[in-house]
Amino acid sequence: MKHEKSEEMFRKAQEVLAGGVNSPVRAFKSVGGAPVFFREGRGAYLTDVDGNAYIDYVGSWGPMILGHAHPDVVAAVVKQAVAGTSVGAPGELEHVCAKKVIEMVPSVEKVRFVNSGTEATMSAIRAARGFTKRDKILKFEGCYHGHGDSFLIAAGSGALTFGVPDSAGVTRGVAQDTLTAPYNDLEAVKKIAKENQGQIAAIILEPVAGNMGVVAPADGFLEGLRQLCTDEGILLIFDEVMTGFRLSRGGAQMRYGIRPDMTTLGKIIGGGLPVGAYGARSEIMNMVSPLGPVYQAGTLSGNPVAMAAGLATLSGLDDGVYERLEFLGLRLEIGLKEAARHAGASVTINRVGSMFTVFFQDGPVTDLASAKRSDTARFARFFHGMLDEGIYLPPSQFEAAFISAAHGEKEIERTVEAAAKALKKA
Ligand code: PMP
Repeated sequence: MKHEKSEEMFRKAQEVLAGGVNSPVRAFKSVGGAPVFFREGRGAYLTDVDGNAYIDYVGSWGPMILGHAHPDVVAAVVKQAVAGTSVGAPGELEHVCAKKVIEMVPSVEKVRFVNSGTEATMSAIRAARGFTKRDKILKFEGCYHGHGDSFLIAAGSGALTFGVPDSAGVTRGVAQDTLTAPYNDLEAVKKIAKENQGQIAAIILEPVAGNMGVVAPADGFLEGLRQLCTDEGILLIFDEVMTGFRLSRGGAQMRYGIRPDMTTLGKIIGGGLPVGAYGARSEIMNMVSPLGPVYQAGTLSGNPVAMAAGLATLSGLDDGVYERLEFLGLRLEIGLKEAARHAGASVTINRVGSMFTVFFQDGPVTDLASAKRSDTARFARFFHGMLDEGIYLPPSQFEAAFISAAHGEKEIERTVEAAAKALKKA
């Protein structure tokens, strides 16, 4: 497979963009080689600038649950763009989209739209601090909540991939207010809560982690956090930027039947355009400006084109979509396991619904420490093997891959065949 045009574009991009990209993991640094530049996405497929086609398992890192360029989403975007792309004053789509979100996500009574997942989590902890009048937050090692200063402590995703889980540029003062615990370790959380009694505003987590690769919550973990937060007056924040509208219509909170105090959303909510949101019961959301003392604003927040794309995407999420994603996810998991067994490759496949990661190790992978035991050199060889076979996976061991509703059995079968070859070479 030739990538001449991609390589040339990467050379040009590096002259004018930091690292040639606008988000670090895109640069392929952890798997080596030049990143692939794309010209088109349709359904489950991507076409690169050299004309190569791929089955896509990145899905823009989650948003494209209906597949690329879904006709309903494209039509909604075009219709709104023709009517104007931004006014900076209220429009109807904002409350229509908000109503849809509230109807779908159990814990949300009121919502505020922002422009990214990062903004959603930053704003949510500010509201949580304003509400509880406490300063500290607790996060989990390997969870990623965007690049807000408070979260770049033991952070996952690109921060982990590039070995900067504690980013330079975050002041000691900010870092002091962020406590961390190992994922799935309820006893550690209880100990920290005791040591910091009356000081923790919020516990924030990915209810299914995706940013150290996929890690499911252990039995009782979410329930235990819920109880602890209720007992201690701590707000429980589910960061559902990745899991929201993906693991069920109502996200992980609906799938596991746990009601957080606050929820952050992103990715799918914008249907491929830049949207994030945070929501909670009214009592908490009424703390936010202009009603309350917690300030938060945005020139392009609730942008009508983005709302149109989001609304069209959320409207496409019927029960059939989730049944299909579960079915395809299971098919793929079974196929990949079989392929690994045939190839004699020791891998651990973690999957929840349509999110999965192939870890290059024996497992089990239940937290950051175990995720880090993976053989990233083998992952890199697997990644390139798959790329050569026309399968586009996230270019890092510590990320989730996503299946869309535009994938079908044909794509799953082709992926398993490709994996059978790639695993042998890895
Ligand atoms: N939270 C989670 C759980 C995420 O997965 C991400 C992005 N991968 C973010 C927050 C940040 O979202 P964004 O990249 O839109 O700022």
